[in-house]
Amino acid sequence: MGEPTQGIPGATDVVDGELRLTPGRPLSDMNKSPRPDFDDFFIEKDRLERATGRVFNIEWLPFESSRGCWWGEHKHCLFCGINDDLMRFREKDTDRVISELVWLLSRYKLLKLCAADWIISRRKRREIFTRLKELDLDLECFYETRADLTKEEILLMQQAGVTTIQPGIESFSTELLMLMNKNTSRIRHVQFLRWCKEYESISRTTSSLGSPASRSSGTTTWRRSCRTSSICSRRCGTCTSSRCIASARSSRRRSSSPWTGTSSVRTMPPTSHQVSLTR
Ligand code: SF4
Repeated sequence: MGEPTQGIPGATDVVDGELRLTPGRPLSDMNKSPRPDFDDFFIEKDRLERATGRVFNIEWLPFESSRGCWWGEHKHCLFCGINDDLMRFREKDTDRVISELVWLLSRYKLLKLCAADWIISRRKRREIFTRLKELDLDLECFYETRADLTKEEILLMQQAGVTTIQPGIESFSTELLMLMNKNTSRIRHVQFLRWCKEYESISRTTSSLGSPASRSSGTTTWRRSCRTSSICSRRCGTCTSSRCIASARSSRRRSSSPWTGTSSVRTMPPTSHQVSLTR
């Protein structure tokens, strides 16, 4: 049993069945964040293995080199749910990122690390990849990225051990990408995926809009695709018809609902006890 979180800035706690938030400010200097410590997690894992006789294979460990999004500061993608308080991009120095990675690998004897960053740093990514390549750690690493890396950067990234990435592809319609504030194009995305294939980087793409949006383009198509449920491909069980789309609470899509053709916005039942629609 740990310490209560009551009174810690930025932390939530439950008082008399009510969720309370102690206001806090996002950390501005990432170099001041503590080094990750998973000791308790592994102690508990060992205890559970002894108690149950089961083996829990932990292959990946998370790490963090930045918070916020440098693209979203400039142009918030319309579907993105990051709120304005957390959007400002802050990053650790390259030395700190590298020393933390090396420490995690040697401390926990694992070779797979997963970046919790929302987006890899534009300013430091070359430096980070170059240092990792030189260290030749036999590492397997995951990062989320905008699909804006150059061919040379993709090769460097692969040589550094960043074997899996999640680029925000979202659509292959230039017009829709512009409407989403992605400010990129269909051909740029195709080119990016071809380069990933060439260097055997595993690319787990994300898609906001389904095939109807990809077949043609434009506002009309987006509205049509919203109405025909192409955004919400997994039936969540909460939809009463096929006209349901998912929209993150802080996304511009939500506040622009008349423009995107949506008419009724409801909070999903699993979160309705935590989130008031008016907040
Ligand atoms: S979707 Fe990705 S790139 Fe766009 S604002 Fe959100 S985090 Fe940034």
